[in-house]
Amino acid sequence: MKKKLIAGNWKMNGGLAANEALIRNLLAGLGTPGCQVALCVPTAYLAQCHDLLNGTGIDLGAQDVSQHEAGAFTGEISCAMLKEFGARYCLVGHSERRQYHAETDTVVALKAQRALASGITPIVCVGETLAEREAGRTEEVVKRQLAAVIHANGHCISEIVLAYEPVWAIGTGKTASAEQAQQVHAVLRAQLKAASSQSDRILLLYGGSMNPVNAAQLLAQADIDGGLIGGASLKAPDFLSIIASAG
Ligand code: PEP
Repeated sequence: MKKKLIAGNWKMNGGLAANEALIRNLLAGLGTPGCQVALCVPTAYLAQCHDLLNGTGIDLGAQDVSQHEAGAFTGEISCAMLKEFGARYCLVGHSERRQYHAETDTVVALKAQRALASGITPIVCVGETLAEREAGRTEEVVKRQLAAVIHANGHCISEIVLAYEPVWAIGTGKTASAEQAQQVHAVLRAQLKAASSQSDRILLLYGGSMNPVNAAQLLAQADIDGGLIGGASLKAPDFLSIIASAG
């Protein structure tokens, strides 16, 4: 059976002292987790977190990457740069990137492609807004977002991690119910299955206000293979509790 993955997304939070304290507290309480654990940290702290996490069993991830290889793209970070700091994962197409940085399905697909070609596992995020859910368009939206990534990546699709993150549940304290999350995960699972004979190996994470109280029920769903955790990953006891629920 594949091990679940619990990945923290620190978003634009942290500082040198706070990061060190958080990671030391996590490592002190981690023991031997029954799941895989990763932290997606701000680019500025990749080097620091690489040093603190190296050899600990917690993998390092970034929160975004350029779709370009190198060159005149001021402010962008390349996959090669992420690799130099030991990043195993990179979030791609987080809803905050789609919303505030106008990332289209095509750009997200290209970023996933670039990451895969560089040996970085993209954690591809898909999810509907509240308006889209209320209009009954959830399935259509997540399938369209995933289709772009499948189209650009062909058989390599089995190397991605997919995160279903309903936009209305991110950072709002509103979680999708376990049934709502499972329903969408089942749709995504079927789409992946149709695209790849190796789809069984793809981890499907749920993200959106996952916390120590709701984690166990969400993680018990048939097609939920882990969590992408924002706010609760900034508090060591909460993140450790979610990790324990996945083990
Ligand atoms: C996220 O940022 O991916 C996320 C799921 O955030 P939160 O857990 O705070 O809703």
